[in-house]
Amino acid sequence: MAAPSFDVSGKQVMVTGGRRGIGLAIGEAFRDLGATVTLADLSPATGGSDGFKHVVLDVCDAAAIQKLAEGTPKLDVLVQCAGKINRGREYEFEAFQDTINTHLFGSFRMATAFKPQLAAAKGSIINIGSMYSYFGSPHAPAYGAAKAALVQLTKSLALAWAKDGIRVNAIAPGWIKTELTRPGRENPEFFRKVSERLPDGNWGEPEDIGGAAVFLASPAAKLITGVTIPVDGGYSAS
Ligand code: NDP
Repeated sequence: MAAPSFDVSGKQVMVTGGRRGIGLAIGEAFRDLGATVTLADLSPATGGSDGFKHVVLDVCDAAAIQKLAEGTPKLDVLVQCAGKINRGREYEFEAFQDTINTHLFGSFRMATAFKPQLAAAKGSIINIGSMYSYFGSPHAPAYGAAKAALVQLTKSLALAWAKDGIRVNAIAPGWIKTELTRPGRENPEFFRKVSERLPDGNWGEPEDIGGAAVFLASPAAKLITGVTIPVDGGYSAS
């Protein structure tokens, strides 16, 4: 019996929201293992992210996505990290809609636009959920709704596209030190509440998510589709 293969070298990978944070760390994991990685983000890349292809892309812009898809002959792995929170404003309809548009509609737009390439490559999609895929999100109701819906979209696309050879999975990161969570970490009461629920008390680093992404994209995960894997230091178990 052959040993399981975690080899992702030579794969063409695209990471949305890849300029920083979790997206950049996932991109670095694939790059360091020999994949060719395109980081697609709203803003141009800043220094320190070498060895990537960069494209400026808004996942809310259907025409720009279509154009990018038409210029992308091959894609093995699509990682959907583009994300935001309209902190303090998500009970206003426009902000609610904007957050949903980015996370949920953006992920759907990208998945459908790149479906032909992913089918040709027998590739996979990795969506990014959250602890708010499972738990109520009173301070950011749109973010929670979008992250819960992404888990369901992951299952639906996994079923619908299995015959095309496309696997669709998600990762639900726990509490990771990025710009997105900076306001929470700078709020002493919030920081303490989260830390107390973490079994070892420690927030994660962006690079803690890379291993799960690589695994899900690798041959070793060929029977895995439609699942969301928490990478949360045990937060969702507590
Ligand atoms: P960051 O804010 O560090 O990175 C998010 C990136 O997405 C930014 O570069 C941002 O660009 C980009 N982005 C935002 N909107 C769009 C868009 N419309 N099109 C393309 N790119 C866009 O956040 P994280 O790294 O923390 O988050 C990455 C993903 O992980 C998100 O989906 C987030 O919800 C999720 N997540 C994060 C957790 C955490 O603890 N950090 C926990 C659970 C899930 P710009 O900088 O220009 O705004």
